[in-house]
Amino acid sequence: MRLRVLGCSGGIGGRHLRTTSFLVDTDVLVDAGSGVGDLSLAELTQIDHVFVTHSHLDHVTSIPFLVDTVGGMRDRPLTVHATGPTIEILKNHLFNWAIWPDFTEIPTAAAPFMRYEEVDLGRTVTIAGRKITPVPAVHTVPAVGYHLDSGSASLVFSGDTGPNDELWEIVNRIPNLKVLIVETAFSDKERQLAEVSKHLCPSMLAEELAKLDLDPEVWITHLKPGEIELTMQQIADGAGRHRPRMLQNGLVFEF
Ligand SMILES: [Zn+2]
Ligand SMILES: [Zn+2]
Repeated sequence: MRLRVLGCSGGIGGRHLRTTSFLVDTDVLVDAGSGVGDLSLAELTQIDHVFVTHSHLDHVTSIPFLVDTVGGMRDRPLTVHATGPTIEILKNHLFNWAIWPDFTEIPTAAAPFMRYEEVDLGRTVTIAGRKITPVPAVHTVPAVGYHLDSGSASLVFSGDTGPNDELWEIVNRIPNLKVLIVETAFSDKERQLAEVSKHLCPSMLAEELAKLDLDPEVWITHLKPGEIELTMQQIADGAGRHRPRMLQNGLVFEF
């Protein structure tokens, strides 16, 4: 599998900061933040699946534009994979005819541009041999991360999460784990904000990574614009043997 970072920032700004989205091969998105807008029309039309971690706008903002833009050029619906509670939120608060039309009924309910598919924690979805499994996340809304397994190696994306013991129990049982992408949304000076918004800051990340028994590459995502250097310095000072690196747009992981 090949995962390309389309966006990995906690915000927007300039030509480099885009919100969370990863393109897996040519046909699968994990989250659909503002980075999706950098894809060409030809690339957008090839996307068949979006796996959503949670309903926050920085992770779903491009789904409405994607489906509207390419729906009429495709011969099958875009499948939006998410947990039941997240699908309910998307139906009620995004594709509700007020913010955006309900594309599960456009052009017709029988042959729509978009459909939902429910995922569950721990239940693997296999798409052309590629295994995608939701893993636990702890956030202010229902949330998951994802474990992607090509058969030869695995990548785990934490999604947005605060401290998360359950995740590490699962991650420690992935023998072919090659890449871990984990969020650190705030610097330590905003630890209280990290706690109430259920994100991590560097001191919390250090506590979390202490629970990781394996030795994957560790990449940091969801850094807040304006605090990037400070947060990465605090991570470098405290994160120990895993030596986390900063995720950036355009990075490609083969696994
Ligand atoms: Zn969030
Ligand atoms: Zn987020």
